[in-house]
Amino acid sequence: MAYVIKDTCISCGACAAECPMGAISEGDGQYVIDAGKCIDCGACAGACPVGAPCEG
Ligand code: SF4
Ligand code: SF4
Repeated sequence: MAYVIKDTCISCGACAAECPMGAISEGDGQYVIDAGKCIDCGACAGACPVGAPCEG
């Protein structure tokens, strides 16, 4: 399962900078994870100030 970003995301961009797969991009109102690229490493969850990325 890929990680997903909840709607509590404040679009700070910290997770995108940490993702080794380049799977995270800025979406409409929040950042989004490309499930086809995510390898479930959890780096995004560790970088997020509001705990928005979680295991899908
Ligand atoms: Fe990227 Fe890892 Fe987060 Fe998946 S779990 S989106 S690979 S940082
Ligand atoms: Fe959103 Fe958290 Fe990523 Fe920042 S680190 S863009 S708040 S999911």
